Amino acid sequence: MSCLMPTADINQEAVIIGGGFYGAAIAIYLARQRGLKRIVLVEREPALLARASYNNQARVHNGYHYPRSFTTAYRSRVNSPRFVRDWPDAVKQDFTKLYAIARRNSKVTAKQFERFCREIGARIQPADPALRALFEPRLIEDVFLVEEYAFDSTKLASWAERELKECGVQIRFGTRVTAISNGPNGTLQVAVQPDRGADELISCRYVFNCTYSGLNQFKGDFPGTRTGLKQEITEMALMQAPPALQGLGITVMDGPFFSMMPFPARGLHTLSHVRYTPHLHWNDQQGIDPYQKLKQYERASRVDRMVRDVGRYLPAVLEAKYVDSLFEVKTVLVKNESDDGRPILFEKHPELPGCYSILGGKIDNIYDVLEKLDAEIF
Ligand SMILES: Cc1cc2nc3c(=O)[nH]c(=O)nc-3n(C[C@H](O)[C@H](O)[C@H](O)COP(=O)(O)OP(=O)(O)OC[C@H]3O[C@@H](n4cnc5c(N)ncnc54)[C@H](O)[C@@H]3O)c2cc1C
Repeated sequence: MSCLMPTADINQEAVIIGGGFYGAAIAIYLARQRGLKRIVLVEREPALLARASYNNQARVHNGYHYPRSFTTAYRSRVNSPRFVRDWPDAVKQDFTKLYAIARRNSKVTAKQFERFCREIGARIQPADPALRALFEPRLIEDVFLVEEYAFDSTKLASWAERELKECGVQIRFGTRVTAISNGPNGTLQVAVQPDRGADELISCRYVFNCTYSGLNQFKGDFPGTRTGLKQEITEMALMQAPPALQGLGITVMDGPFFSMMPFPARGLHTLSHVRYTPHLHWNDQQGIDPYQKLKQYERASRVDRMVRDVGRYLPAVLEAKYVDSLFEVKTVLVKNESDDGRPILFEKHPELPGCYSILGGKIDNIYDVLEKLDAEIF
């Protein structure tokens, strides 16, 4: 067992655990807006935004996706325009976005979907005949043209890198936080384990646990989140779209269907399917390390099954070329399993004053997180 020694130069105002979009954005916010001077961001990977913030569907949600969760739909309508305004260079807008409604097994009809979009104030209009012709009419009830964009996570990562540097946030890459404990005089002590070098203890006033699927994997006095989390190993296939589907994003709602979205970080499309994208799931608990579980997972692609089923609704997909798969652990709140809502998780831990666990759920929820941060702490 190693002996952990706190040293004077590592006494910090805040330690951010996790250099995904949330950890980076929170560190920048604390430095720029709240004037914190000594901030350390600890990231187990060798780069920023390398995990869920990269391996996702890249959709800047604009409400359409959530007919079963009015609150999430409504918050998306508020946050999406702000995200587009604040990260214009990272948002791809130059594609045509279609939502189609399946005739069978859909939890929503075309009429209900249109009404819902009007209720949340989201633009919707019937797609023109050339776009409708892409779909198999016996399986698709209606097709709508909507306004929804995609983000480029590599551009968000460049923004984060630049800003963190300018703000003077110290970044420890290739370093894992293993424990969070109460220290003397109201401080917190964060045990870190670098890939190379000796273990250390960082002492600080605040800890922001922004580790997404890793939220509950700390020892010490960390009590775990009170909110139940569900972990899912997911696969999204990366496809070279055929000419007929280039410049399009397509989602078929709402049930065991699929999405084909531009993935700007690679200039490809992701193909995801409600039935085949989730490979494996479990209820989160301390000791079952999701990163380890994914590392050990065999990763046998299900792209063939995805393409076969999607091809029934959208025949042109049969001409798409499979390039690669993105496997990642997706973390959702157990309570939203049935309505598919994506509220934020923001928990303070009374057992560890100054320590907060945060999960954004989707990228534009950053505004809800920063509002909560202000309300709870500042
Ligand atoms: C398959 C899939 C599809 C998705 N689709 C969308 C979508 O279309 N639109 C949308 O808005 N959102 C989507 N999401 C959700 C979105 O990806 C997440 O909400 C967002 O990326 C979470 O950011 P984060 O910073 O919390 O997590 P992450 O980016 O995962 O960052 C957490 C970081 O913490 C690090 N870490 C973990 N444990 C430790 C430790 N002990 N010590 C040090 N570092 C640690 C990890 O390495 C990681 O870099 C999707 C997610 C998945 C998985």
